[in-house]
Amino acid sequence: MTVESVLVVGSGSADLLAALSLKKKLPSLKVQVVSSSRLGIIGVGEGTVPYVVNFIHQYLGMDEYRFFNEVDPVYKLGVRFTWGKRDYFDYTFSQNQWAFQAPDLQRPSGFFARFGHHGIDLPGALMEKNKALPTRGAGSPDLPPAGNLVAWHLENHSFASWLDQSCEEAGVEMPEGEIKSVHQDETGSISRIELKDGQSLSADLFVDASGFRTELLGKILSEPFDSFHDSLFCDRAVVGGWDCKPGEPILPFTTSDTMQSGWCWRIDHPHRINRGYVYSSKHISDEEAEREFREFCPDLNTTRLVTFRSGRHQRVWVKNVVAIGNAAGFVERPN
Ligand SMILES: Cc1cc2nc3c(=O)[nH]c(=O)nc-3n(C[C@H](O)[C@H](O)[C@H](O)COP(=O)(O)OP(=O)(O)OC[C@H]3O[C@@H](n4cnc5c(N)ncnc54)[C@H](O)[C@@H]3O)c2cc1C
Repeated sequence: MTVESVLVVGSGSADLLAALSLKKKLPSLKVQVVSSSRLGIIGVGEGTVPYVVNFIHQYLGMDEYRFFNEVDPVYKLGVRFTWGKRDYFDYTFSQNQWAFQAPDLQRPSGFFARFGHHGIDLPGALMEKNKALPTRGAGSPDLPPAGNLVAWHLENHSFASWLDQSCEEAGVEMPEGEIKSVHQDETGSISRIELKDGQSLSADLFVDASGFRTELLGKILSEPFDSFHDSLFCDRAVVGGWDCKPGEPILPFTTSDTMQSGWCWRIDHPHRINRGYVYSSKHISDEEAEREFREFCPDLNTTRLVTFRSGRHQRVWVKNVVAIGNAAGFVERPN
């Protein structure tokens, strides 16, 4: 099968990144992204890991200066877990956080962790001080080799608009509309998608990036879904935040706090702190979760509820459909 055209269903972050990657790596490919502004995107997913930094700048070769100007990310050095016996535990992205052996020590750092683990490596020491990066002369950041130690917090709307713009500049076509019907050929492969406004879109390969709706892989091709609800209980999140107050520090890490029936993230941005309480609806009602969330974070403004499921489709590539992002699978775990 020769693939000359690809249609991506959805314009969330997974969808636009897929479209951008295809167009950057295979410029002659016709790539279309269809999305519905009425259905919108899930709008959570702001904490990243270093692979994302590598992917965007090294693999795709996107300009760092422009990215920083337009997206304004916050450097993320790791995750602070406030649970368990210790007051907190800082996990950093340096791959040898516990295996690192300083020249003057006889054992790796992990051996000494029971005496105290704060600041055990450089990113951990910076997290202790709420500092993002060491500086060179004149206060400019001393960046580590690309993407090795550092990830980002990305604000959804600025990341999405950077992705939108980058896709457009790369030559991705972006028709707007909601799926009305999906047509299959005699082999069961998808041949064409019709939108509610009458547009008809065809392609050789379809990327189902429609989020939890799984419009193609789940609804049309009926690929079985293996749920992980027996072991991963959380299925909802109440999400909110507040605008930074004058002088409020911007934390260069994601925080993951223990709650009664789940956990709560904190993701800092330059002008806003976002929080989300991920919980199990079998163990707490939405009203109680909202109350507990507000007691824990008194500065919250408005909140909204996000429902999700943990699990994955058995196959993510079926016939001429490849599912990515939440349409393929989702594993809820504390950041
Ligand atoms: C509680 C929670 C916390 C998370 N935290 C993180 C995190 O910290 N970091 C992280 O990287 N990820 C996180 N994620 C995952 C993150 O949400 C997703 O990886 C990311 O948003 C990608 O989503 P998506 O593009 O697959 O789906 P969505 O953003 O939902 O996009 C789906 C797209 O499909 C379109 N669509 C759907 N149906 C139709 C239709 N019928 N017709 C036309 N268009 C349609 C929608 O309009 C939308 O554009 C989290 C997820 C949850 C649930």
